[in-house]
Amino acid sequence: MGVGITAETSYHPMKTPEEAHKLENKDDRDQLQQKRGRKSLLALGLIATAFVLSSMQSFDSAKVFRAKPHNEKQVNAMKYLASILQVNFWYPDSELHIVREMEVDFYVSADQSNIVQSLMEKNKIQYEVLFPNLKEVIEKQVSKETNSTSRHSYTKYNEWHKISAWTARIAKKNPKLVSRIQIGNTFEKRPMYLLKVGKESGRGKAIFMDCGIHAREWISPAFCQWFLKEAIQTYGMDQNMTNILDNMNFYILPVFNIDGYIWSWTQNRLWRKSRSKTSNSDCVGVDLNRNFGIAWGTVDSSKNPCKETYCGSSAESEPETKAVTTFIRNHLSSIKAYLTVHSYSQMLLFPYGYTYNETPDHDELNEVAKEAVKAISSLYGEEYKYGSSAITIYPSSGCSEDWVYSQGIKYSFAFELRDKGKYGFLLPESQIKPTCQEIVQAVKVIANYVLNQAL
Ligand SMILES: [Zn+2]
Repeated sequence: MGVGITAETSYHPMKTPEEAHKLENKDDRDQLQQKRGRKSLLALGLIATAFVLSSMQSFDSAKVFRAKPHNEKQVNAMKYLASILQVNFWYPDSELHIVREMEVDFYVSADQSNIVQSLMEKNKIQYEVLFPNLKEVIEKQVSKETNSTSRHSYTKYNEWHKISAWTARIAKKNPKLVSRIQIGNTFEKRPMYLLKVGKESGRGKAIFMDCGIHAREWISPAFCQWFLKEAIQTYGMDQNMTNILDNMNFYILPVFNIDGYIWSWTQNRLWRKSRSKTSNSDCVGVDLNRNFGIAWGTVDSSKNPCKETYCGSSAESEPETKAVTTFIRNHLSSIKAYLTVHSYSQMLLFPYGYTYNETPDHDELNEVAKEAVKAISSLYGEEYKYGSSAITIYPSSGCSEDWVYSQGIKYSFAFELRDKGKYGFLLPESQIKPTCQEIVQAVKVIANYVLNQAL
């Protein structure tokens, strides 16, 4: 789908028949839908908004729970629950990581929520219902106002076709500061655009930043767009930003997982993976943040294509991962820092993710993270935790920040943006601006630090 269409102005995700097929059930059964033939349900060019709402997986009466097991028996009860029901985890990303005193966020369909509730009550597990009807929250977010033919906006979540057109526009409007580079194509053959911003033209430093590796984390692409706007608007006005951009470049990938991002708009708001297909399974998608060649396929990643943390058939098996690793390998002499942006849970993490061991640079990275987090809270008082990934969240393998670090790029950080679970992946648009503003502060701290190092 979308094959061969490269001009962002002519491309619209709603127009592809496969995406148009109405979903009836779980994510992993998507392919069944596609097998039902291509009797298109719609004429090309249907009004986008109406269609999004009708084709989207509805989540009607699905409930989002937050549970907090206090003892091993309760931990085991929760794991048991996940083994007998379709429990969709928000945090942590699978039942394997549930430990005592952890706040576990997940949703289940309407018909399973009663079983969940009675099982938790029977085991005296402390819980609350974060959203009694997931459908309502999602529909509010993908509303007519958000999703209609309105223009690209920095304070709204933008569909891919708007972001894509924006990458072309912003480069054209700011030729002295911004340029657009295509680094590859996604599985569904959409062009992956990288925006380079900065004046550095010699052998100077650069920071690579990507957003949207996980499709449902919509605040992440919103941040990459915001950061670029901020860079352009304050260059020449704000002394600090001017100094940064005079002396280093940023390579910004606004949406890493474009196919998944589109799927999260058109079919399943809570989609995480890419949209690649494997020959030996009906399940679709790879967790691109488990697909990097660092301890690939070991901790917190699955070889089962139906799992949310499916790591792909081999390291860098996915075209999206390959595009990024190839670009970074080709720019190893200039890229001095790497930032990857996720949500949610308000954290600033650094390697390692795949082991509890500390890197040789642990103390320094910890210090930089501490300063960055301080800068974040200086704006609105939001607290972000910081530390190595494995220790601060839980171990995970094949992740981008570990791989980048293994390439000799020391300053490798992963942001987990707002919030702490009140809205989770469904962060309201009213929080885009303050979230982005506070994270800009952190990025500046990291950029200044990198600039001041003799690297
Ligand atoms: Zn993520």
